[in-house]
Amino acid sequence: MKRLLLLLLTYGYFSNATAQVLPPELPWSGASEKYMRAANHPWVTPAEKSGLTETPDYQTTINWLQKLADSSPLLSMQPIGKSGQNRDLWLVAAAKPHIQKPEQLQKSDKATLLFHAGIHSGEIDGKDAGMMFLRDLVLEDSSVLDKINILFIPVLNPDGHENSSQFARVNQRGPVEMGWRTNARNLNLNRDYSKAETPEIQALLKVFQKWAVDLYIDIHVTDGIDYQYDITWGSTSKFPYSPNIDAWLKKELYPELQKALRKQGHVPGPLIFARDNKNPETSLVEWSPMARFSNGYGDSRHLPTILIENHSLKNYKQRVLGTYVFLQAVADRLAKDGKSLQNATMQDRSARPKKINLPPNWSADFSKIIPDTLDYLGVAYKKYQSPISGTEEVQWLGKPKNARVPIFSQAPEIQIELPKAYWVPASRSDIIEKLQLHGIKMEIVQKPTNVAAQFYRLEKYKVSGSAYEGRVRLAIDEMKIEEHEATFAPGSARITTDQALADLLVLLLEPRSDDSFIQWGYFHEILQPTEYIEAYVIEPLAQKMLKENPELRKEFEQALQDEKFAKNPRARLYWFYKRSPYYDKSYLLYPVGREM
Ligand SMILES: [Zn+2]
Repeated sequence: MKRLLLLLLTYGYFSNATAQVLPPELPWSGASEKYMRAANHPWVTPAEKSGLTETPDYQTTINWLQKLADSSPLLSMQPIGKSGQNRDLWLVAAAKPHIQKPEQLQKSDKATLLFHAGIHSGEIDGKDAGMMFLRDLVLEDSSVLDKINILFIPVLNPDGHENSSQFARVNQRGPVEMGWRTNARNLNLNRDYSKAETPEIQALLKVFQKWAVDLYIDIHVTDGIDYQYDITWGSTSKFPYSPNIDAWLKKELYPELQKALRKQGHVPGPLIFARDNKNPETSLVEWSPMARFSNGYGDSRHLPTILIENHSLKNYKQRVLGTYVFLQAVADRLAKDGKSLQNATMQDRSARPKKINLPPNWSADFSKIIPDTLDYLGVAYKKYQSPISGTEEVQWLGKPKNARVPIFSQAPEIQIELPKAYWVPASRSDIIEKLQLHGIKMEIVQKPTNVAAQFYRLEKYKVSGSAYEGRVRLAIDEMKIEEHEATFAPGSARITTDQALADLLVLLLEPRSDDSFIQWGYFHEILQPTEYIEAYVIEPLAQKMLKENPELRKEFEQALQDEKFAKNPRARLYWFYKRSPYYDKSYLLYPVGREM
């Protein structure tokens, strides 16, 4: 009993303390507050009922949406899969006429907007904004549905959403209880787009293909540095895989979104991050996302994608209303001219580049980058010496501070020349299935097939010393290319690069790509030689090899100059084994072939 009391006291202390330790809030009120319905409105959302300070649990959310769908001829609730803990994943489809099956959208020539919330389920603004948005769409003005279809997944990570408490996101100002970042297996869905291991992301990848999505929005909340922006968003850096889509988003769409948000009292900003949170004004970065993230993935498969990051230090009401205005403005713009986005997408999907850049690494050398300049709406801060950390820490002061600051954009450093096709052996049916899940086209050979191809052999690599997203990653420092003929068994896949998804294919299969399956640890079996030779066999064999090959003798004598080698009998014997025809040829050989 005493222990329980202590626990309750501690709980109370910390839940109050969370609000107390956050930096001061910038005061806000805006015209968008008019969109909130009163508590006695028949279609008030559960979040509105609390004045946008709380968010409902998953079942309450789905029940409310189901009731709305039952009341409207424009909406239908569609199951799209199950979470790890077997919760149904729901998609709400809004269309005129009303949709029963995804195939109906494939035939529709209207543009289709998909948005979801709760991939990180504590960052749930999009769910409550989406409920208000659909409600107003069907009850007040559904005219955009004459031109577009709208799909809404209220929570992509319901298991994390139900793992909620007041202690899930300490850096965030509401709602009162928040869900957990990862899914039931503790995997971060927004690192899973490329390796596609989780049932939630697998369900989403099917939606992209089955529902013919034209524009996709993934809604988050970001912490990190403090600034005036309440809503930030972006797609890619200056080096997109989808240049036509990128130009449409940045030139046609974003200026209109900014205008709409400012008009409603919000402070829109670019998707920026500080490399050094203690010196934000000198280290702002325009991020080049990898394919494991929603926006990097969308760019690499030519699916127009927007990542929203609301700011965690703004209160929940302000963030939900900003998201609402954003959704409304996107729908309006798409309804006005969805065709031009579809044309841009078509151009990117039919491009057939000969070379493809790999995304730059976060650790790029900043001193080599010439930055752009940003008119930055920051927040004032001071630094102080902390007795806790023993170093300088930042204290945010809650006062606007504008400045012109440099913003860095990392350029890609590695370029891959495309083969005609990749070959994945039948023995890796798991990899073949993953590629199919992404919608990559391939031919499965029915009989043994000889192919002259390039293969990579690893020379220097490092297996990570710790786990990341449930996997042990492999860093590849050096490789060499070998060319030889190989026989691919029936069931192997020949995957042409003459297809719309070639960029994504390269990112998944080229070993130097950070999002390749090999770097994610799917090919560790090649790191181990599995056959060996006895000393009493290799010794006489080595004698014979030396006798027959004077060149080899010279090489061996050279090797003996190395004292460490000379003193290591095992290494000396192994030296000959490695040069004999008995050596394991598949050791360190990445088995995916490049047909040139
Ligand atoms: Zn997030």
